[in-house]
Amino acid sequence: MFKRIFELFRLPTDNLDVVRSQLSAFVHQVPLLYFLLAANSIVVAWTHSDVAPPILSIGACYALCLICAVRLFQWMQDRKRNLPDKHAARRLKTIRVMTVVLLVLFFGWVGALYCYGDVNSREHLAFYVAITVNTISICLLQVRSSAFVAISLSAVVFVVMFGFSGDKYLIGITLNQLFSVVVLAYTINIHYGSFVDLIQFKGELIRQNGRMQRLSDDNFKIANHDALTGLPNRRYFFARLRDIIDGKRQTADGFILGLVDLDGFKPVNDVYGHNVGDALLMQAAARLTEATGPDTFVARLGGDEFALIIPEHLSDGDLLTRSRVISAALQVPFDIDGVIAKVSASAGFAAFPEAGSNDSELYDRADHALYHAKANMRGGAIIFSSEHEREIRREAHLEQVLRKAHIAEEFSLAYQPILSRSTGTVVAFEALARWTSPSIGVVSPGLFIPIAEKVDMIGDITLELFGQALDQLATWPEPVGLSFNLSARDVASASTIMKLILLVTTRSADPQRIDFEITETMLMQDFELAAQSIQALRLLGCGVVLDDFGTGYSSLAYVHRLSPSKIKVDRSFTMEMSHDRQCRTIVQSIVGLCNNIAVDCVVEGVESEAQAVIAGELGCDLMQGYHIARPMWPAAIPAYLAGVAASAGAFRPQVAVSGRSRRSG
Ligand code: C2E
Ligand code: CA
Ligand code: CA
Repeated sequence: MFKRIFELFRLPTDNLDVVRSQLSAFVHQVPLLYFLLAANSIVVAWTHSDVAPPILSIGACYALCLICAVRLFQWMQDRKRNLPDKHAARRLKTIRVMTVVLLVLFFGWVGALYCYGDVNSREHLAFYVAITVNTISICLLQVRSSAFVAISLSAVVFVVMFGFSGDKYLIGITLNQLFSVVVLAYTINIHYGSFVDLIQFKGELIRQNGRMQRLSDDNFKIANHDALTGLPNRRYFFARLRDIIDGKRQTADGFILGLVDLDGFKPVNDVYGHNVGDALLMQAAARLTEATGPDTFVARLGGDEFALIIPEHLSDGDLLTRSRVISAALQVPFDIDGVIAKVSASAGFAAFPEAGSNDSELYDRADHALYHAKANMRGGAIIFSSEHEREIRREAHLEQVLRKAHIAEEFSLAYQPILSRSTGTVVAFEALARWTSPSIGVVSPGLFIPIAEKVDMIGDITLELFGQALDQLATWPEPVGLSFNLSARDVASASTIMKLILLVTTRSADPQRIDFEITETMLMQDFELAAQSIQALRLLGCGVVLDDFGTGYSSLAYVHRLSPSKIKVDRSFTMEMSHDRQCRTIVQSIVGLCNNIAVDCVVEGVESEAQAVIAGELGCDLMQGYHIARPMWPAAIPAYLAGVAASAGAFRPQVAVSGRSRRSG
């Protein structure tokens, strides 16, 4: 019982939500409270000005009103301040103390006036105390402890001052007030309970909302960010791109979309494993973010491809300068737990709105520029231009014509000999695809092979051409062999590889006389898949040639695992060999590698005697190029072979050749 009574006067300091809500509810009541107290007191001072000395009636009232005004002023000031938690509870205590102090002062004043008045004035005093305290208690509804202090104090004062007055009417008023106080206390208690429940419910709701918000923030982060690097992912990137395009359309401003792709990442991943690859990507993402600055939006689109949105329009010069900063940042070797890995970055840029007016168009343009950067200037950047636009149109037209092409009739092969300088004999002919379209004429393989890959026609073209090549091989004298180019899609297609094998066996061709040429870059796309296809061809007895060697970050691990039958030094080295010492060193080291692992080395693109001599000096015996012979039609081959046989010694080396030739010896 006592505990329950004590509870009514207790402050809810253990529940901060309730404390803060009480304070904020009370703040609105404060002016009313003081107004009521002052106004009612002024009325009492007026009715008692005749019966009591002015110093007590008017003077004391004046002093009490002044106290009310000062407190009100303090409250108004404090209201603007954001209270820390511990001060909030203290403020509540102050309210309770001030309630007691003020009521004691007022009741003291009433007690003093009581001594001077007659029955009428005392009845007014009783009415004043009852009505004022009851109204104040209602104002303090949410601050229960103060309300109960006011009620209890008034009840005591009432009983002491008026209950024992001996006046029947005053005793009656006292009883009326006591009944009212009981009902008032009961009502206040019930309302206070609902108030606390409401606050607690509201607090729980806010906390629940907070949890939901955090959960939804987490979900947003998971759905829109790349788990490895923490960068925005592909989905977020496209959403952002669309938003920016919408925004820029309104303001008629421009911006730049960039795609950055790491060159040489795949070999790092394959050779050192995924942990090193992942760590490299994380470091690369951090470097990219730092190098591009805070205004640029950086996302990881997947694998080793990143996207940038530069929110302003830059001149080509400025853009290339920025791109050089990015590329320099990524070129610094990565140290991953002691493994030093080196990659570079190619970039493609497209400007809005010139290059594309919507997200997919702009992305395709930047991708086109990136593709060109990777193909023609690895580690560099290309900005999409009107020339690229024309190229895209040309390719689209080619694609349409190719889709309708009659493969067996329109595709044929030219053959270019591979010669051994030491013996002066033709070791093999490389088959080079030719497309003669009735509508657009002769199209070079460099143009149509990528399109045929894209429209999924490459498999049919390869099989048709390989059939033609086997027919030719059957007409050539032994041991002249065939070197046949495969595309990346062929190498990745088990069905094409099986059909090639089937062609060799059904035509009873000698697999020992057939080499398949694959480029280094194909290996880098999916080494395991390529290795399986190569294994199948080698099991048949065919050779495998690593074409365009030196351009594609090949690691020795690749070469060892594939154990190719030949390696072809890329044409670009041959061209530079005569005037670039570094180039000569590279060729020399490739030739050295071939000698070490007992693999034939072919220098391709030999265009002059000088290049042939240097190649010979560097230790390479097998050569191919315009200087030896241009690609020729099959009909020209017998005469060519006869000519070579007749002038056999003409190609004999002028210097000692240390390179070896598998079929020439
Ligand atoms: P590749 O395999 O490196 O073929 C050699 C290319 O260099 C041929 O160009 C050839 O004509 C050219 N060439 C030969 N000697 C010289 C020279 O001394 N100087 C210069 N500048 N060029 C020389 P082509 O026939 O235009 O073929 C281009 C590329 O197309 C080939 O490069 C090969 O990657 C691809 N390709 C050709 N035929 C086929 C094919 O049947 N299937 C596939 N998948 N790709 C093929
Ligand atoms: Ca080739
Ligand atoms: Ca080549």
